[in-house]
Amino acid sequence: MVFAPSAKELSHFPFLKKSQDHIKLRFSSLDSLLVDPKGDALAARAISRIKEAISPKKGFSPKVTSSADEEIAGYALARIIVSCANDRQLIDRLTRYEAERAYYFLVNEEEWNQNYRSEDGRYSRLWLTIADELGVHITEDRMRVADYIELVAPMHDDRFRLINRHVAQGFVEIKSDEKYELLRERIRVLLRRDLPHRVPQPICELLAPKAAEIKKVYQEQMLRQFGTVEEQAFPPCIRTLIAALSSGMNLTHAGRFALTAFLHNIGMDTLAIAQLYARAPDFDAEKTMYQVEHITGRGGTGTDYTTPSCAAMQTTALCVKRNAFCERVNHPLSYYKMKKAEPKKTPVPDKQAPEKSKTVK
Ligand code: SF4
Repeated sequence: MVFAPSAKELSHFPFLKKSQDHIKLRFSSLDSLLVDPKGDALAARAISRIKEAISPKKGFSPKVTSSADEEIAGYALARIIVSCANDRQLIDRLTRYEAERAYYFLVNEEEWNQNYRSEDGRYSRLWLTIADELGVHITEDRMRVADYIELVAPMHDDRFRLINRHVAQGFVEIKSDEKYELLRERIRVLLRRDLPHRVPQPICELLAPKAAEIKKVYQEQMLRQFGTVEEQAFPPCIRTLIAALSSGMNLTHAGRFALTAFLHNIGMDTLAIAQLYARAPDFDAEKTMYQVEHITGRGGTGTDYTTPSCAAMQTTALCVKRNAFCERVNHPLSYYKMKKAEPKKTPVPDKQAPEKSKTVK
């Protein structure tokens, strides 16, 4: 029997063809969606979706209060708004968010889906339907080599390199958890490929205030992130890495890792970190975001990497320009913490300036 996903299932995966067909029954066109009595509420849902996408902290929950119509329409409108905003970073953020959201609902399907059904103990019926529609063909925990290579091409995690995989008789072995990661990557790539949409000018004009609102929120968030970081307290090794980037040098893998992990550990947003790399001559936004998110634990590995210790930095020749303060620490993060906690020096008075109390009458 052909599987017909429920409205709830469709709302969690709004990019599916069946989800789009579902919403077309309700709204015949984009214009009708915007002039619908619920138009403002749908736009608000779209805006909150984009805000979640650009927020440093994602709060996915199995409890979704909006109706299926609102969720799917909100998804579609959000994509239209970022297309009108025509901002590459916003588009990347939204695409990654949608892929992460779908990943969350797939991994936790048993928690929220009363219709959950496992087909053979390994794959849920819903997972199989989505994978089939998106062209991810994994059966019996293995995938054809050619399909695998195409799917993992944009991924930079060493785990997925063919050289690190078990390959037999033309098939690559896929671990149980990895099937979700591969599907998430497929979703991200497919959703990104379609953006920006070519939205008719009158519709973009109608949505201009929404697009401007989102851009403003995004910029404010970036400023907040930078505002909390005290560059003056960075240890010399990290300053040197930043200076190298700023002067247009490419960093070694170890250098990128140390810098990214440090900035992440002190609370800098992944996007702000990635923007730092925009100074590098070989800057590639997609690749950089992927690497940064991998190191910061948002790339699906679940591992939140920590900055290497001073001893490890010495091994990779990254411990440079040591100063007296370095003698008191064994970790760049300890350096930063201690430096930040130091009382701020009061400005030294100008020796040339006449002292008022000694004025001779
Ligand atoms: S001693 Fe530690 S903090 Fe100082 S430069 Fe070397 S690695 Fe950085």
